[in-house]
Amino acid sequence: MRNLTRRAALLGGGALLGGWATRRYGPNNPNLDGVTWIKPRNGEGVLNDASGLSETPVHKHIILKDDPGEALVSAIRSEIRLAAAEGRPVNVGAARHSMGGQAIPRDGHALTYDNGWIEPDTAAGLMQVHAGARWSQVIAALDPLGQGPKVMQSNNDFGVAATFCVNAHGWPVRLGPMGATVRSFDMVLPDGSLVTCSRSENPDLFGMTMGGYGLTGAIVRMEVETAANKRLVPEFKEMPSRQFGTEFVDALSDGTVKMAYGRLNVDRAHFFEEALMITYRAAEDQSDLPAAQGSGLVSKLASRVYRAQLGNERVKRLRWWTETDLGPAVSGGGVTRNSLINEPVVTLDDRNPDRTDILHEYFVSPDRFADFVEVCRRVIPGSYQEFLNVTLRFIDADPDSWLSYAPVPRIAAVLSLSQEMTARAEADMARMTRALIDGIIGIGGTYYLPYRPHARVAQMVRAYPRAAEFAAEKRTLDPRLVFRNNLWDSYLGTL
Ligand SMILES: Cc1cc2nc3c(=O)[nH]c(=O)nc-3n(C[C@H](O)[C@H](O)[C@H](O)COP(=O)(O)OP(=O)(O)OC[C@H]3O[C@@H](n4cnc5c(N)ncnc54)[C@H](O)[C@@H]3O)c2cc1C
Repeated sequence: MRNLTRRAALLGGGALLGGWATRRYGPNNPNLDGVTWIKPRNGEGVLNDASGLSETPVHKHIILKDDPGEALVSAIRSEIRLAAAEGRPVNVGAARHSMGGQAIPRDGHALTYDNGWIEPDTAAGLMQVHAGARWSQVIAALDPLGQGPKVMQSNNDFGVAATFCVNAHGWPVRLGPMGATVRSFDMVLPDGSLVTCSRSENPDLFGMTMGGYGLTGAIVRMEVETAANKRLVPEFKEMPSRQFGTEFVDALSDGTVKMAYGRLNVDRAHFFEEALMITYRAAEDQSDLPAAQGSGLVSKLASRVYRAQLGNERVKRLRWWTETDLGPAVSGGGVTRNSLINEPVVTLDDRNPDRTDILHEYFVSPDRFADFVEVCRRVIPGSYQEFLNVTLRFIDADPDSWLSYAPVPRIAAVLSLSQEMTARAEADMARMTRALIDGIIGIGGTYYLPYRPHARVAQMVRAYPRAAEFAAEKRTLDPRLVFRNNLWDSYLGTL
């Protein structure tokens, strides 16, 4: 499955689209004769990820279904032994929704867990959870108890340990990335030993593993904080985009906002000029919370509007109108915290084998947000990618992880683009990504590591000042370099 992005918190729009022309894409379009297409193979001997552009040969891919006890640990030890004997890498992956081979060991032993074991402790606001459990399983277990994930991504397909290993963030406020909610975890190290890590026990290993892309070992069990589920009511505010940074921080300052995000308009004529801020506060009535639903009609309709934007500037403008005018007019009712995040990625799948959705993400200080808008306005329109969406979030400082993208509070900007599956589009995307990263680093920001590996190594090192220290410590911890994936092969392993 390829594809992405966040749910849209808006209604309607889908019915207005009938009959509108969209541009033709794909190999049958005569205008694309002579273009080199990228056609991923699936099946035996190869693994790919959410980009569809990361096809990589693997020696084997095994699924481990055991609970996080002795059987699982000994199965991992055995794979480490076998792989190391042949000089092959090992890597654990979950949904493999990273987009640059960060969860794929080249010619190695790829491990995936399939076990949703969860033991909640509602009084303490904690859960013990299998490293491979998916957030959809966590929500299904916690929602009936009035609890939910404290921080997770905007979709529910991802693995819990995988979320920790990329140190993903969500849109509950004011909170740091997901790693901030992890109390401890058990991990099999490259030498086969089993250790517990927390902020007081093996703290360096804790900080390296949080956002360390599985390069320190295989996590088997975690202790993670949970949050009370709540009925929430949204509020919408439009503003010029350059004011968004300060307005967003102001809105979150009194502590009453529980979840929040922003959007920028993406039509080319007014690119990134306007912003919309959506804040959710607790409703007065917290009785009889409905069960967390999966993808509803609203998300499916929003998804149709989202997709119809492709190659159609009028629909991009229409979508902005539905978000800024129609959405606020019709969305008075409450939703629950859990239902807002219980969205599968597939809802917005483009079902188009000739294109792939690619995410970028940049982190900037709120007081440099206007500069961020300028960088994007300077760089993005020069590319021929189809820009679909940008979502803005607030992330509190992360003092723990070695590869931290938010050493101070940041606004995260998640950019979603639709890319043609061709060599020329890949080259154009690489060029644009490097130009964006240069611009963002120039204003003191950084970029997110789970997406396409287009950054230059020097850019990675500037964005992540502890990268060389991480690589040196990894070589001490794992001298045979057993745990490897493309983040190591293309970046950290070159330092
Ligand atoms: C549609 C979409 C929406 C997204 N939304 C968000 C968002 O809202 N916020 C955000 O921050 N990110 C977001 N992302 C990025 C996402 O968080 C990462 O791509 C993440 O890696 C996805 O989880 P996964 O289960 O697919 O991880 P995988 O890609 O399978 O793995 C990620 C990393 O974790 C490591 N790993 C996994 N399990 C273990 C384990 N048990 N032990 C050791 N290492 C392990 C892997 O080796 C790999 O390096 C989104 C991505 C997509 C495609």
